[in-house]
Amino acid sequence: MKPRTDREQAPPTCFACDAAVRTEWRDHTFTYGSNESAVELCARIPVEVCIECGTGSLGHEAEVLLHEAVCAHHGVLTPAEVRAIRERHSLSRAAFAEVSGLGEATLHRWENGLLIQNRANDRYLRLLESGENLCRLRQAVARSEVAAPSWRPSFRVLVDVTALQPEQAGYRLRPAA
Ligand SMILES: [Zn+2]
Repeated sequence: MKPRTDREQAPPTCFACDAAVRTEWRDHTFTYGSNESAVELCARIPVEVCIECGTGSLGHEAEVLLHEAVCAHHGVLTPAEVRAIRERHSLSRAAFAEVSGLGEATLHRWENGLLIQNRANDRYLRLLESGENLCRLRQAVARSEVAAPSWRPSFRVLVDVTALQPEQAGYRLRPAA
């Protein structure tokens, strides 16, 4: 058996003619949204341009910058900023989900630009940047675990049912006249 060797990262080539490409930074304007909510957004992005046929293509970095332009339009944190808030506290996604109550999968989507958080969650994330707020949540989580370790809601018995039985026995429905 041949030993496995790691393949070297091949330099990017044109998907149309396989020739070499060079990176050109361009101001890219695009339409975001539809109908009345459609807006023109602009971002400066790197375009891989083929030196032979001139075909241009967008790489990961360009996708990230376009997504950031959309986040700026909505006035919300970018995926990198969402991730930075979690990493600021040195927390894994699972640990951050545990203390914040946000879903681990949801955090993954926000941090990778697969989904944009709504305004309320965006503001909640901004509060979570504060170590003091995170500490408060940790205390609340700890208290709730002590109070209800299995997360089963418990209800107080407000009325002693057996005391009502004689009363019920003496009660008769009267036929309507
Ligand atoms: Zn080409």
